[in-house]
Amino acid sequence: MRYPHIPWLPLLFYPALPVAAAVGLLFWREWPPALTLIVPFVPWAMALIGAAICLMYQRSQTLALMLCVLAVTAAWPTLAREAPWAMGAVLAWWSLVYTINALWSERSSMLIDVGLRIGLMAAGVAAIALAGKDGVGGIFSTIALQGMLARLGVPAEALVALLATGLTLTLLLLRYGRPQQAGQWLGFVCMAWALPRGAAHPIELALMSAASLTALCISLAHEGFHMAFRDELTGLPGRRALNERLQRMGRVYTLAMADVDHFKAFNDTHGHDVGDQVLRMVASQLRRVPGGGHAYRYGGEEFTLVFPGKTAAEAMPHLETVRRAIEAYQMRLRDKPARPKADQIGQRRRGNRGRGSRPLRVTVSIGVAERSDALRAPDAVIKAADQALYKAKDGGRNQVCAYGARRRSAAA
Ligand code: GH3
Ligand code: MG
Ligand code: MG
Repeated sequence: MRYPHIPWLPLLFYPALPVAAAVGLLFWREWPPALTLIVPFVPWAMALIGAAICLMYQRSQTLALMLCVLAVTAAWPTLAREAPWAMGAVLAWWSLVYTINALWSERSSMLIDVGLRIGLMAAGVAAIALAGKDGVGGIFSTIALQGMLARLGVPAEALVALLATGLTLTLLLLRYGRPQQAGQWLGFVCMAWALPRGAAHPIELALMSAASLTALCISLAHEGFHMAFRDELTGLPGRRALNERLQRMGRVYTLAMADVDHFKAFNDTHGHDVGDQVLRMVASQLRRVPGGGHAYRYGGEEFTLVFPGKTAAEAMPHLETVRRAIEAYQMRLRDKPARPKADQIGQRRRGNRGRGSRPLRVTVSIGVAERSDALRAPDAVIKAADQALYKAKDGGRNQVCAYGARRRSAAA
């Protein structure tokens, strides 16, 4: 059971970079000559900024990806002039090291990590240099390409490497959907498009290389923002994002605090990992709350729902809908054979309850409060919603209670 949440919307902004670069390309002949002289240095400037950010935040993976983009951009005109036989092999090398770096997550210290990655890249270059023209010729261009593919001027082996990298990065993006993967994907696409044409169009290569490095740079900043504002477990925006949002609310809004019922007992019975799955399920239901509500993870098993422009009376039916959806949800557990040892012991002790047996269900209690003249500050509204939540718990749980209301909306 998985509840993936892919923040697609911000990712849509990434293509703006190559689109801007492509529009620039269309007009570059009209540019003042001085600008044309400057363009080849733009990738270096971007790489310098990117390297500074990488060093500051210890991002050896992105640093290595930037290095291999910059290295191939810098070497390309010389290769085209002096050793055109090596271009296919270098393209395949670049594709391979890009994939390895994207798959190889940061583990050891920054210095060792960067050293190993640079060592790997250097080993590839040395292998090409040692093989020489004859060796490379023996491996590459053994398959003759036909038609449009032949016009690309890329050996079949390098084309396969590019396609394999593109596929790997697309799968990584679909699987994790993080800014980091979006940046890596776009950084690759820009270069995969520009490199085969780079020998004939050096300005285009410089621009696309700058776009590639910018995408990697932006993804670093976006990743930092993502980490600070998104809750890792549920994918919902976290407490910090809620606080920020509450500073920008209008005069009318409603806030609800939702808390999973008897969650400690649930954790004790079924284990912490099943508890985590429950939190993900609850989050995915809360995210779908109708009526323009926004869900946040407040902390632990508590969530906050914010309804901008809505009174408590208007928000109540939507909260009731989401409460019922959670109550009705039957959880089927994901099989996870490689469970930690301690957990296996715990499960044996618990006599295998929960796993593979009847479907699991949970309920939530919800407290609601609206901003009013008496409750002006967001903190006061949160406190009032918390009081209403206590009332919902006291009233038997699995219900929605409004602050100050005498009659509660009881569970059906
Ligand atoms: P009530 O119905 O009164 O809310 O009872 P409760 O047991 O849900 O309340 P309590 O506050 O005593 O327990 C909250 C539990 O939530 C305790 C803690 O172990 C669990 N919890 C908090 N955060 C997480 C988390 O990220 N994952 C898991 N699995 N459990 C968590
Ligand atoms: Mg609680
Ligand atoms: Mg609880």
